[in-house]
Amino acid sequence: MAASLRLCAAASGLRYWSRRQRPAAASLAAVCSRSMASKTPVGFIGLGNMGNPMAKNLMKHGYPLIIYDVFLDVCKEFQDAGEQVVSSPADVAEKADRIITMLPTSINAIEAYSGANGILKKVKKGSLLIDSSTIDPAVSKELAKEVEKMGAVFMDAPVSGGVGAARSGNLTFMVGEAEDEFAAAQELLGCMGSNVVYCGAVGTGQAAKICNMLLAISMIGTAEAMNLGIRLGLDPKLLAKILNMSSGRCWSSDTYNPVPGVMDGVPSANNYQGGFGATLMAKDLGLAQDSATSTKSPILLGSQAHQIYRMMCAKGYSKKDFSSVFQFLREEETF
Ligand code: NAD
Repeated sequence: MAASLRLCAAASGLRYWSRRQRPAAASLAAVCSRSMASKTPVGFIGLGNMGNPMAKNLMKHGYPLIIYDVFLDVCKEFQDAGEQVVSSPADVAEKADRIITMLPTSINAIEAYSGANGILKKVKKGSLLIDSSTIDPAVSKELAKEVEKMGAVFMDAPVSGGVGAARSGNLTFMVGEAEDEFAAAQELLGCMGSNVVYCGAVGTGQAAKICNMLLAISMIGTAEAMNLGIRLGLDPKLLAKILNMSSGRCWSSDTYNPVPGVMDGVPSANNYQGGFGATLMAKDLGLAQDSATSTKSPILLGSQAHQIYRMMCAKGYSKKDFSSVFQFLREEETF
């Protein structure tokens, strides 16, 4: 299979495409060289806030799934839909030669790959293992080495875009791996995302994702500005409208506004349930902090954001969406 993947990559020669721009030749090459494999089962491990809609998009594209999650309840709807649920990552690897993992942290990824019943116990030669979790780039590199020893291919492909983009299939994937396997990943990632970007060797996808710590900073800034405006007597919807036609506009203000009542269909409209948990944001900022230390890069606002999200977790916000920083600021009397 690895040989056919390489053929496909050579045929397409692409480093980046967005769904709207994708040249016809690329899809043709993908179909020609991988048509035999294209609808074989795809393994999916980690069916949480993100994994659930991502797996559903693969189903919509006709891929049968082999499903595993430590939390059995989240597998039920896939079982009811006729997908196969198995009892360990090793079992997924036995039944599927393309596997996507979407797990919370580095520790969970290590467990799923290298644990007692991990993928590596039964992975088949030539398998393609795509980790879309946001984890430490050093862990991605270690996993890639272990996977390579088994004759399989590993790539890190973390995402940005949130649950809404996961549902609509508009995620951005940042892919780190040997370039000749990139086209093989595009076939699956293109079902779940509108941008699939090649970043470089294994670990560089995670590096790009870590720089998206910018989101935490912009969310805190949006929450501060909205809170200030409300305390100055402005109507929050009007304020959001003005900010969104001003130079301070950003994704946190126009797509994921943190103030309840400003937008529908976002976590702030649902008591901050679902979405991207404050714990996960604190984890991502911790990864940014580690990377900043090792590269001697000043991340003054990133460090501050890390402390704010850690404090939120300690004060009971850990299970709420990260946009609940607005509620945190409102309730924090000492600010
Ligand atoms: P989540 O906590 O909602 O889901 C993770 C799932 O993994 C859970 O169902 C959990 O039971 C399962 N799991 C944990 N350990 C496991 C293991 N060893 N084997 C099998 N299953 C295991 O998390 P999420 O929000 O879906 O995020 C997943 C990853 O995507 C994280 O790394 C996060 O940082 C990243 N991410 C999330 C968002 C978002 O908006 N939620 C956006 C971008 C990136």
